[in-house]
Amino acid sequence: MSDIDIRVTGRAGRITLTRPHALNAMSYDMCMAIDTALRNWREDDAVDLIILDAEGDKAFCAGGDIAELYETGTAGNFDFGRTFWRDEYRMNAFLFEYPKPVISFLQGFTMGGGVGIGCHGSHRVVCESSKIAMPECGIGLVPDVGGTLILALAPGRLGEYLGITAGRLGPDDAILAGFADTYIPQAQWADLIELLEASGDPAHIATHAQDPEPGPLRAAQIDIDRHFAGETLGDIQNSLTGDESEFAQKTLKAINRNSPISMACTVEMIHRLRGPSLSIRKALELEYRFTYRAMEHGDFLEGIRAQIIDKDRTPKWQFAGTSVPTVAVSKMLQPLGADALTFEEEKAMKIGFIGLGNMGGPMAANLAKAGHDVVGFDMAEVNIDGVTMVSSGAEAAAGADAVITMLPNGSILRAVAADVIPAMSKGAVLIDCSTVDVDSARAVDADTQAAGLLFVDAPVSGGIGGAAGGTLTFMAGGSAEAFGKADPLFDIMGQKAVHCGDAGAGQAAKICNNMILGVTMIATCEAFALADKLGLDRQKMFDVVSTSSGYSWTMNAYCPAPGVGPQSPADNDYQPGFAADLMLKDLRLSQQAAESADADTPMGALAQALYAQFVENEDGLGMDFSAMLPRFEKRGRE
Ligand code: NAD
Repeated sequence: MSDIDIRVTGRAGRITLTRPHALNAMSYDMCMAIDTALRNWREDDAVDLIILDAEGDKAFCAGGDIAELYETGTAGNFDFGRTFWRDEYRMNAFLFEYPKPVISFLQGFTMGGGVGIGCHGSHRVVCESSKIAMPECGIGLVPDVGGTLILALAPGRLGEYLGITAGRLGPDDAILAGFADTYIPQAQWADLIELLEASGDPAHIATHAQDPEPGPLRAAQIDIDRHFAGETLGDIQNSLTGDESEFAQKTLKAINRNSPISMACTVEMIHRLRGPSLSIRKALELEYRFTYRAMEHGDFLEGIRAQIIDKDRTPKWQFAGTSVPTVAVSKMLQPLGADALTFEEEKAMKIGFIGLGNMGGPMAANLAKAGHDVVGFDMAEVNIDGVTMVSSGAEAAAGADAVITMLPNGSILRAVAADVIPAMSKGAVLIDCSTVDVDSARAVDADTQAAGLLFVDAPVSGGIGGAAGGTLTFMAGGSAEAFGKADPLFDIMGQKAVHCGDAGAGQAAKICNNMILGVTMIATCEAFALADKLGLDRQKMFDVVSTSSGYSWTMNAYCPAPGVGPQSPADNDYQPGFAADLMLKDLRLSQQAAESADADTPMGALAQALYAQFVENEDGLGMDFSAMLPRFEKRGRE
C-alpha cells in the first residue's frame, strides 16, 4: 500500500507512514495493515522490536481519516464508522499490550488516531517540532483510541483540562502529561534508528535522551487543578467563569468552541476511569460506547461539517454551554450489550445468578446479552431472557467463575451463602449486590475466604430503570483481586463501579448514601408542602431550587411533585420506582450501623421514624418513597 511502508530492517519490524501530503492521516486500510504486521511479528524471532515513524516534517499522524466517516454517516450508514472504530481500537489495545518494545518517533502533529499508534508503545520519542493533542471534542467526538487512559493517568486534573480544551502539547508538556517518554532532537533520529535496526536493543534511546525546553503546563498546573476538580463540565465552566484571570478566560474561550455533550462525556469518562482498575481495554470499551453512538446521537457529523467540510467553524451543537443534562451523558455512555467492544482473548464467563427479582432479573439478562453463560436460581418461578434456570442455588454456583446474589436482606444472604459456598470452585468470586447490613457482608466475606474464594459486597444505586438499562452504580468492598475479577461484570450491568475499600465498605457507602437520600427526600417534600401553603407555584419553586443552593438529586432528577421537573414516579401516581418500604429498610440499616459504630445521626433517626410511620401506620406501603409529598400536603403542624 502506498500510504504505509511495512518491512523488516535488521532486527526491527518497521512501519513508516508515507502519506505526508495528508499529514499521514490514518485510513482504515492503514490501520489494518499495522494490525496484521504486529500480529506477524509477535511470534517472529527475527524481530526484536518495532519502530514506527512517518515521512514529512509536518506530522507523524494528524488523526484518523474522517472524510470517509462523514460520507458514510451522512448517508445514514453508521456501520462503517462503528467497524472502523472497533477494529482501530482493537489494534490500539494490541499495540499497547505488545510483548516486544514498540518505539515511535513523533515529529510535528500527533493527534487523535495518531496518538492511538504513536503514544501507546514502550518508548515514545518527541523532538523540537512535536505537537501532541486530543482535539476530538472540537469535532463532536471524545478523546478515543485509548487517549482517555493517558488523560486519566495524567497528573492532577491535567487530563480533564487537555481532554476538553484540546490543548496542544510541546515536547516537555507531552512528557509531563504522559503522552511521550523521551526528548531527542530530530537531527539525531536517523542515526538512532539505524542503531536500533542493527542491534534490536532499545537501550540506545536512553543514551540519546536530552532535556527539552520547559513547557508552559508545569506553571499552569495549580490553576488547572483548581478549576478542573469539579464533578461535571458545568462545575468546571462555573469555576472558570467566576475567575477574571487570563488563564481562566483563555481556557473558557477554548472550551466554548467545543461540543458540550462531548466535553461533558469526556469529564465523566476520565472520572470513571481514574483509579486502580484502569486498563487500556476498559478505556477503549468506554470510548467505544460514545463513538458507537456519536453519529446518530452525538455532535460528530455536525462537528465534521463545520470544521472540515464547510469550514464555517460555526457548528450547531445540540446543547448550549453548561446545560448538558446528566441523563444525556448517561445515555451516550450506557453499556452497548451485545454490541460492546470486546477483545479477542476474552472468553465468556460462567455466572451463577441467585435472586432474579425486580433488580436481579434484568441484571442477569444484561449479562446473558453480553455473551456470558448465565445460570439462575430463584425461590419464585421466573423466566429471564437468555438465562438457564436450575432448581437450587448450589446447582447455579457449581463450576461458575462468578456467583452473583441479589436478595432481599442479610439473613437470606447468609442462608444462601451457606448453601452456595461449598459448591463454588476455588478462586471463583461471590458478588453480593443486595443491600444488607455491614455485619452480614463481613460474615459472608469471612466464610468465602475460609473456603478459598473471593468476595465482593457490591450494593447498587440506580433502581429498576438502572438495572434494565445497564446504568447502575456499584459501591464495592473487597480485596483488589476480588474487585478486579468482578469489575468486567460491573461494566456490563452498570455505568460506574467504585472500589470503596475492604469487605463491608460497599454496604457502608450504600447505607450512608441512602441515609442522605431519605433525609433529602423528606426535606424536599416538606419544602414543597410549605411552598403550597405559602401560595408559591410548584413550577416556580422547582425553577428556583433546582438551580440554587437547595438543589439535590431528589429535586432535580426525581422531583416528588407531579408534572414538575423530569419524569418521575410522582407522574405515575407514585408507583415505585424505589418503594418507601425499601427506603425504610435502608434507613434501619443505617441506624443499626450508627448504633454499632457509636455515630450520632439525628436526621437519619428522624427519617427512619417518619418512613416507619408512613409505611407501617399510614398508606405508604407499596408507594414510591417520594409519596411523602402527598402525605405532608394533607397535614397541618400536629
Ligand atoms: P425483589 O423482591 O424483586 O427480588 C428478590 C428476589 O430474591 C425475589 O425474586 C425472591 O424470590 C428471591 N429470593 C428470596 N429468597 C431467596 C432464596 N433464599 N433463594 C433464591 N431466591 C430468593 O427485590 P429487588 O427489588 O430485586 O431488590 C433486591 C435487592 O436490591 C434488595 O436488597 C434491595 O434493597 C436492593 N435494591 C433495590 C432497588 C430497587 O429499586 N428495587 C434499588 C437498589 C437496591
